[in-house]
Amino acid sequence: MAVEILYEKDVNPEVIQGMKVAIIGYGSQGHAHALNLKDSGVDVRVGLRPGSKSAAAAEEAGLKVMSIEDAAEEADLIMVLVPDELQAKVYKEQIAPHLHAGNTLAFAHGFNIHFGYIQPPADVNVIMCAPKGPGHIVRRQYTEGSGVPDLACVQQDATGNAWDIALSYAWGVGGARSGVIKSTFKDETEEDLFGEQAVLCGGLVELVKAGFETLTEAGYPEELAYFECYHEMKMIVDLMYESGIHFMNYSISNTAEYGEYYAGPKVINEQSRAAMKELLARIQDGSFAQEFVDDCNNGHKWLLEQREAINTHPIEITGEKIRSMFSWIKK
Ligand code: NAD
Ligand code: MG
Ligand code: MG
Repeated sequence: MAVEILYEKDVNPEVIQGMKVAIIGYGSQGHAHALNLKDSGVDVRVGLRPGSKSAAAAEEAGLKVMSIEDAAEEADLIMVLVPDELQAKVYKEQIAPHLHAGNTLAFAHGFNIHFGYIQPPADVNVIMCAPKGPGHIVRRQYTEGSGVPDLACVQQDATGNAWDIALSYAWGVGGARSGVIKSTFKDETEEDLFGEQAVLCGGLVELVKAGFETLTEAGYPEELAYFECYHEMKMIVDLMYESGIHFMNYSISNTAEYGEYYAGPKVINEQSRAAMKELLARIQDGSFAQEFVDDCNNGHKWLLEQREAINTHPIEITGEKIRSMFSWIKK
């Protein structure tokens, strides 16, 4: 299935430069969107809760800061960048009363729209601009002159130019420098959840942990296990990212390449692939979303237990000790 990818030459910057934009929340994505848009010549204000710890940082960065209600009221485009699990409440209580016909409601992930936790009125645009990278990289790459690619999507087109708005917004955060991929709320939401669960976060952390535990349980030193199964990961990933799997294979020894073909399918085997299919099915039918929302409503009990377990795992203790010896890693 071919996707459409758009670049700077395909975008009309004046669309977003002619709008009043409210960024709701100033976390990982919020600070990156707000600052990149401002530097792209867009009229930005940041909407925060009273007493928000982020207000000082946003003001220091030269941004207008106001209440969520005021920001929503005066903006033409409202980008919702509070955590996914809080968006439905913030939307209902603080944004919806200030939405007017012809406004644009925007998201960086389709979770609440796709699974129906937020149901906007028919007379507003509903769009998405989802950078395919963490917010701090979205900001850093913009200041360096490059940009993280974005997915841009339209769920609801009330004004007839919702796509132009989504594309122009993505240009403003720097996405058009590397490519804006036209997508849908369904594809973005389901693929994003699957990627972070099966491969990027869930798969990766568990793979590294399992390797570390296999070596340390067999009596090898923890420091060595950390270097082999954790530290070297970034170098391998950098080679794949920059030049492809074939180049990574060219760069490693033949022994390592032979081991890759021999061992990979034994670790990520039929059982792992069946587990991935099951994860995808639970994402598609909404049962993962509901499970996550239920845990949030229960004070994040399960999430916090898991966080505590990984934070106190020997791999983290060893890692902290070793990383403190690297002069190039900033605190
Ligand atoms: P975050 O947790 O980093 O930041 C959320 C911000 O929301 C906080 O900094 C605060 O300013 C505000 N906030 C927190 N609690 C609030 C409350 N009760 N009421 C009002 N405001 C509150 O969130 P994030 O990771 O930037 O995620 C925002 C959106 O971006 C989500 O939809 C997420 O899926 C999406 N997204 C995130 C990333 C990422 O790298 N973090 C990448 C792509 C998309
Ligand atoms: Mg995600
Ligand atoms: Mg080696």
